Amino acid sequence: MLVTLIFGGNQGDRKALIGEAITEMSSIGKIERCSSLYETAPWGFESSDSFYNQIVTYETNLHPEEVLDKCQATEQKLGRVRSGTQFCSRTMDIDILFCDSQIINTPRLTVPHPRLAQRNFVLAPLNEIMPAFIHPVSHKTIATLLSECTDTLKAEKKF
Ligand code: AMP
Repeated sequence: MLVTLIFGGNQGDRKALIGEAITEMSSIGKIERCSSLYETAPWGFESSDSFYNQIVTYETNLHPEEVLDKCQATEQKLGRVRSGTQFCSRTMDIDILFCDSQIINTPRLTVPHPRLAQRNFVLAPLNEIMPAFIHPVSHKTIATLLSECTDTLKAEKKF
């Protein structure tokens, strides 16, 4: 299965932490593609600390829920403190965007990620590495979703 993950954080040494998280997650399988690192504005809350985001695809033999377990273990290892608030500052957040073209709705996991089409910080790096990928629910390509996205928050290629 090809799993697409987004890494993000707005605390600490953001670039180094994302690098560590990407390496840590490579225990699930081989890295296939990697976007640039983007600097992005906080989405859904006010903060002066901008986020860094990067998207990586891995070829894995694990089940999607096992991938989620590894994402959460990596978030914990890299020091994320869960505040209970939905949108907040964090050292590391790892979300599953796609698992091949599967549609998953379980208590723990919604794939494709339900809010990805509303967010420049997801669509900009996705469009860099997989513009022709067809979203399995909307049946639109990533390039189309980006062109239709009304999010005005900044997502700037940094490295
Ligand atoms: P967050 O605080 O934004 O990292 O959300 C984490 C929660 O979202 C966890 O309880 C996960 O079980 C749940 N979740 C649902 N769908 C996904 C997904 N596609 N990727 C990551 N977490 C997910």
